[in-house]
Amino acid sequence: MTLDPQRTLLALGCRVAAARGLADGILGHLSLRIDDDRLLIRCRSDTDTGMAFTRPNDIRHVRLDGTAGAAGELDGYRVPNELSIHVETMLANPAYRAVAHLHPPAVVAADLAGITLRPIYGAYDIPGARLARGGVPVYERAVLIRSAQLGKEMVAAMRGRPVVICRGHGITSAAASVEQAVLQAISLDALARMSLRVRAVAGALRDIDDADWDDLPDLGSGFNVEAAWRHEVARLGVQAS
Ligand SMILES: [Zn+2]
Repeated sequence: MTLDPQRTLLALGCRVAAARGLADGILGHLSLRIDDDRLLIRCRSDTDTGMAFTRPNDIRHVRLDGTAGAAGELDGYRVPNELSIHVETMLANPAYRAVAHLHPPAVVAADLAGITLRPIYGAYDIPGARLARGGVPVYERAVLIRSAQLGKEMVAAMRGRPVVICRGHGITSAAASVEQAVLQAISLDALARMSLRVRAVAGALRDIDDADWDDLPDLGSGFNVEAAWRHEVARLGVQAS
């Protein structure tokens, strides 16, 4: 079984997230479930130069318990301390095959400022507005999520939503695909940035009118995911494979 296309996709996802300012430096990771017992996840090595420079080789095949998924997979690579974020999210909902854990400063700042992310806009970013409408929960502990128990605690705080803010820490975004998990994180970040911007000029954050939702259609994955992803990859100046 070759996992090269999936490794390439996950590496691209890490680079897209970094290029959007969601993963400054060396912290953050993306994963993709492969089967009942295994996933691909971004690992660290002694040649790691950070999320923005993630290479397909940095994506390693591991079992849900953090051991190598195949011979040699962890030679020279270290599984993230926060593997539990990915594993517990995937175990809680098998539809979540992809998980992004990132440290976007705008989202962390908005939460620390006491701002609840709400649907303050509509057609500006319909997927983001719909995400906010469903609620953006907060896991109130600022800890490193390095045990199954803490992972389960974070998942409980998600309350069935696909995203959660980890206070003083970052976010977790879960979806059926890597593209969706990253795009969802980008939408969450855009919402946080706009909220902070409005607040910065002493503006009030108000939900859009209920009557507007009827005219904020789901434009479909061809537009919301495929086209949006092509754009994100093109921004990097590399070819999607
Ligand atoms: Zn983290």
